[in-house]
Amino acid sequence: MSDLHIYNSLTRKKEKFEPINAPHVGLYVCGPTVYSDAHIGNVRTFTSFDMIYRYLTFCGYKVRYVRNITDAGHLTNDRGEGVNRMESQAKLESLEPMEIVQKYTVGFHHVMEMFNAHPPTIEPTATGHLIEQIEMIEVLINKGFAYEVNGNVYFDVKKYNETYNYGALSGRNIDELIAGYRDLDGQDEKQNSIDFALWKKASPEHIMQWKSPWGMGFPGWHLECSAMSTKYLGKDFDIHGGGMDLKFPHHECEIAQNNGYCGHGGAKYWMHTNMLNFNGQKMSKSFGNSILPMEFVTGNHPLLDKGYSPSVVRFLFLQTHYSSELDINIKGLQDAEKGLKKLMEALALITNFELRITNDNSENQKLSSDIQHLTSSCKEFMDDDFNTARVIANLFEIATIINSIKGGQIKKEEISNETIALMQKTLSDYLFDVFGLKPVEENTPSKMDDVMNVLIDIRKEAKVKKDFSTSDAIRNKLQEAGIQLKDEKDGSVSWSI
Ligand code: AMP
Ligand code: ZN
Repeated sequence: MSDLHIYNSLTRKKEKFEPINAPHVGLYVCGPTVYSDAHIGNVRTFTSFDMIYRYLTFCGYKVRYVRNITDAGHLTNDRGEGVNRMESQAKLESLEPMEIVQKYTVGFHHVMEMFNAHPPTIEPTATGHLIEQIEMIEVLINKGFAYEVNGNVYFDVKKYNETYNYGALSGRNIDELIAGYRDLDGQDEKQNSIDFALWKKASPEHIMQWKSPWGMGFPGWHLECSAMSTKYLGKDFDIHGGGMDLKFPHHECEIAQNNGYCGHGGAKYWMHTNMLNFNGQKMSKSFGNSILPMEFVTGNHPLLDKGYSPSVVRFLFLQTHYSSELDINIKGLQDAEKGLKKLMEALALITNFELRITNDNSENQKLSSDIQHLTSSCKEFMDDDFNTARVIANLFEIATIINSIKGGQIKKEEISNETIALMQKTLSDYLFDVFGLKPVEENTPSKMDDVMNVLIDIRKEAKVKKDFSTSDAIRNKLQEAGIQLKDEKDGSVSWSI
């Protein structure tokens, strides 16, 4: 089906992708915590997984893509300290916690749509899966991997580590972890400071609480992903993903819960996307460099010179491998805008090339084989752990060839119809289907292109009928409106504002 290799965070190796039940693939991605607007860093992570989902589908796999919504109102840490962000935001905005959930879930969907990310095939919520989470805790207690104290239930990491390896994913060692937590020993009711919460007893003022065998309370954060991935993808599934910051403790604890529950650690391949920085600084509200997705589009932010279409931002992300840290700045955005335009224009050009009458004698064999290599290696780069950056470099080379045909440096006769079709298909496949990009103009939602094509066609017909007063009137009136028509060497007509 494909020769895809994926870097597996669990084994720390690039491995051949062998789905458990091909052609079906189970993909689980940790979704957003819906208590505030998604920022552009979140967008990098979710559009990276959108590209991965798109490429798997492109390869012919049938993907069940589960991305959860974290809406249960957990505390900011596992120790039962910290704040419940859903509730504190609800107080701040004078709304019900579930109104906060609804508001930011709708906002998140809007952002994902704006960035042309496909929705997951299942989007389960933590609050919709309390029964499954409670059942998982009961099994963990029965198997001796969890214990209850005073209405709270904790996962027994030391006990688990007798059979399994806690820290296998993040490369942490349990003794070092215990040493790191030493200051907290004796400060709480847990048997060991590294034990994490599966269920927390709710204080009366805690608004989001549910009935359980241990009294009123709420689930620990890590539990929902174990419960929902098992329910929808099974005890063993293919890929689990999330941002690098989720590797520990979130994913480490998920693996422990899954193993404790059923003797299977969940996913076969663990994938982690890296963080996004702006101007060399981690994006954070306290640095004042936390830019909202909409602010990128409108340009309404002191750190931006103007608005950039979502496709330009996506294109900029794709120029760096998903697992590398990415620092973006205005120069990068400007270059990405130019680069994306160049590729889209090349695609438009080649789509409008008239196929020549085949005359294979004049075909430049060396050029054809170079082009074939450029197109086929796109797949090889994608198969090499989704190396989008190298695919884009190839697409630029293809665009340069197309421009050389247009400019006359390469004669059309040198290229066969098949090779032209191959270049067109490669650009279209990767730009639209795999990378989820749109022509730059399309992102400023306007029907301008369609309207211009209608006018260009009417002008062309007028010229054919030798009705020059109409064809000249169209050109002149457009010029008055600030739109320039240009007759290209290959017979096509382009326009610019
Ligand atoms: P959250 O809503 O904070 O739980 O985050 C949702 C996803 O975005 C998680 O997979 C995070 O790892 C990821 N994420 C958070 N901050 C960044 C960032 N600055 N760059 C890239 N991904 C991020
Ligand atoms: Zn998760």
